[in-house]
Amino acid sequence: MKALLLAEYKRLELTDLPAPTPGPDEVLIRVAACGICGSDVHGYDGSTGRRIPPIVMGHEAAGTVAALGEDVRGFSDGDRVTFDSTVYCGGCAYCRRGLVNLCDDRQIVGVSTPDFRRHGAFSEYVTVPARIVYRLPDELSFAHAAMLEAVSVALHAVELSKPASASPVLVIGAGMIGLLTLQALRAEGFPCVFIADLDESRLRLAAQLGAAATFQASGPDLLAQVLAATNNEGVNLAIECVGRDETVRGAIDAVRKGGTVTLVGNIRPEVTLPLQKVVSRQIRLQGSAASAGEYPRAIELLSSGAVQVAPLITAVAPLEEGPRWFERLYAGEPNLMKVVLTPETSHV
Ligand SMILES: [Zn+2]
Ligand SMILES: [Zn+2]
Repeated sequence: MKALLLAEYKRLELTDLPAPTPGPDEVLIRVAACGICGSDVHGYDGSTGRRIPPIVMGHEAAGTVAALGEDVRGFSDGDRVTFDSTVYCGGCAYCRRGLVNLCDDRQIVGVSTPDFRRHGAFSEYVTVPARIVYRLPDELSFAHAAMLEAVSVALHAVELSKPASASPVLVIGAGMIGLLTLQALRAEGFPCVFIADLDESRLRLAAQLGAAATFQASGPDLLAQVLAATNNEGVNLAIECVGRDETVRGAIDAVRKGGTVTLVGNIRPEVTLPLQKVVSRQIRLQGSAASAGEYPRAIELLSSGAVQVAPLITAVAPLEEGPRWFERLYAGEPNLMKVVLTPETSHV
């Protein structure tokens, strides 16, 4: 099968690999679309240590069932499906409590670390356990379905932020996850959502996607604008989708006393925390990792149009163009959001 292999750091090769055969509890999926995730781009140069070559990356995918392991029930050849990026064991204490994103044996599709290597979906075929596979409604295109993983991440952050009481909410960062979080919040009953970023074009998109107000600011300027928009009170909830010193501080500054800051972004592994402010104003800091059970809801919201992903897709391109897109994304070219590769172009 055709596959895009990270042969060594920063070198992607279009190559031929043997197609995988599904284990007893696995499904073989013919990949129609697979999105390039920010974590793939960050992992590509070795800086995260989570894409150790040789590895076929890609965990945001959709396609059709091509074969089933002998123990798999409930799917048939040709079913249109997507899958969760988290491969959980189903048996550990966390899994049994439904916290599958915290599974002790958690693996990620298309990721390799010193502990595991699991080839992903930048290839014609991929195998994944049946328990992480979800059937897609006919009206959802494969390219859009490849965005479900990111939508689930946004929904999980919103879910964990409850019982934060209602609007107003501030989202910091109008990138992919920020824009999906904005839409997820609105779909889940937070009508008044502000969003902050420094990039004007992203904020324009945020306004189209339903932001009540957009703030092109950070630091004290951002705080001043948030206070002006909230009767000097601040927001009830801030969801931080960047993960740097100034943006985490911005989120903490923006919430009112007793408010919640949900942390999704982690572009930096460590930040400075304004501890006294968090303690004395009794702010709840809530981390959010991947998703746990949000796929069905994500499929619903995408199908109904409550969450729109079309404006977030920069390009849908054949697998052959993958290396070039990785270079452009890695170079940080402006105005690029999601790039979706199509190993089996005729399916999209
Ligand atoms: Zn991802
Ligand atoms: Zn587990």
